[in-house]
Amino acid sequence: MNQKRIYLCLAHMSGNEMKYIQEAFDTNWVVPLGPNVNGFEADLKTFVGENKEVVALSAGTAAVHLALLACGVGRGDEVLVQSFTFCASSHPVTYLGATPVFIDSEEETWNMDPQLLEKAIVDRMEKTGKKPKAIVPVYLYGMPAKIEEIMAIANKYDIPVIEDAAEGLGSCYDGQVCGTFGRYGVLSFNGNKMITTSGGGALICPDEESKRKIMFYATQAREAYPYYQHEEIGYNYRMSNICAGIGRGQMTVLDEHIAHHRHIAALYKKLLAGIDGITLHENPSSRYDSNYWLNTILLDDGLKVKGEEHAYEVAVQGAVGGAAGVTHEAKTLHTDCEPNRNVEAMRMALDKAGIESRPLWKPMHKQPVYRNNPSYLNGVSETLFRKGLCLPSGPCVTDEEVNYIVETIRESIRS
Ligand SMILES: *Cc1c(COP(=O)(O)O)cnc(C)c1O
Repeated sequence: MNQKRIYLCLAHMSGNEMKYIQEAFDTNWVVPLGPNVNGFEADLKTFVGENKEVVALSAGTAAVHLALLACGVGRGDEVLVQSFTFCASSHPVTYLGATPVFIDSEEETWNMDPQLLEKAIVDRMEKTGKKPKAIVPVYLYGMPAKIEEIMAIANKYDIPVIEDAAEGLGSCYDGQVCGTFGRYGVLSFNGNKMITTSGGGALICPDEESKRKIMFYATQAREAYPYYQHEEIGYNYRMSNICAGIGRGQMTVLDEHIAHHRHIAALYKKLLAGIDGITLHENPSSRYDSNYWLNTILLDDGLKVKGEEHAYEVAVQGAVGGAAGVTHEAKTLHTDCEPNRNVEAMRMALDKAGIESRPLWKPMHKQPVYRNNPSYLNGVSETLFRKGLCLPSGPCVTDEEVNYIVETIRESIRS
């Protein structure tokens, strides 16, 4: 059973991707515009709601960058960003010469804590005399944030919200699609997300005018002259018509993918129920409807896992997530903030059994690169990071494999 490695979320080309790619080749539309881009954007618009506009872009990171730009973020500004996230939520703030100010999470959804958010707004205005320029909540692992409360606070202080829904495509809060609450919503179609275009992203925009503005900045900010005329700095962020062809094919199986992730979540819930010391992250109430992009578990501090004494003995070779050869070699075996030994031992046991797992994302306020950034903390994200693991959850993961994964977890616990 463990000949084939089981990955967290592997892309699955199960729609009619080839038809759209073939059409692009046949008609020589291989540039970053064309029928597939228009078709993909139209399909996304249908999915998120016809009152929104959608621009396809080269990456989710590019979508964050352009949304910030469109909100007027510039040198010397501050942006309030959820600390418990992947670095692409905050790095683009720095591209613009602005400062990410990190907000910790609440325990129910693991996303931006609305109380800390308000505290931070008041405190930043007091300390800097300026209002933060934008708020970036995240739908981490697909779980909806307390977006209604976040929007109420954002509206009270009149600060635009950019929802990072890169991991949350198809998740809903009170029946409304995540990414459609704020002024902008970010989607990602990287190889490991809910659907993929091999690499790509999109920005959900409030109206035609904002969409045109985003497209302008994504196309090198070209003015309408017969020659190249530039009055502002732009970027090369449009999506290729080839990639958009993959995206159109993937849109035909998006509902299936979402249903599959939720089915895998339900199976984990059933199978993990009998294991003491392990808690599955679940929708806190019926208002939340996660896409369960990645299923995640917490290991109690007291849980004993076989091989704990060997955790962190050797430096990781090749790092996480197919980034081997690109990542820097680890200089130390430890950092000042790392998952508990039982978590690392469980990761190693699963790895040995051919199962990919990964610690939860290390909070940005604990990243050395952001050591001097202001942050508003309650300890939640750091605790989650120390205790948590992501488990295989993608479209290629079978029921049989979930059984095998949970059995491996059970056998790795020292009784
Ligand atoms: C993947 C991801 C992004 C960035 O998307 P890319 O398409 O990889 O650039 C942004 N934010 C979060 C939370 C993500 O997980």
